[in-house]
Amino acid sequence: MPTYDFICTKCKHKFTVMVAIKDREKVTCPQCGGEVRQSFLGYLAGFVSSSKDKASSCGSGG
Ligand SMILES: [Zn+2]
Repeated sequence: MPTYDFICTKCKHKFTVMVAIKDREKVTCPQCGGEVRQSFLGYLAGFVSSSKDKASSCGSGG
């Protein structure tokens, strides 16, 4: 099973989990249970700065 790096959008916690591809979307932050984004190695390391993301996602009750 492959591993994926994720970063929490709430507490910025970075972690790696081993999940099936179909289960990636079910991953949540182990610290705060928040929504996570897949993090790509290297590459974006110095790239993620001073970029304002506009929160524009559909709210859904959870
Ligand atoms: Zn978190």
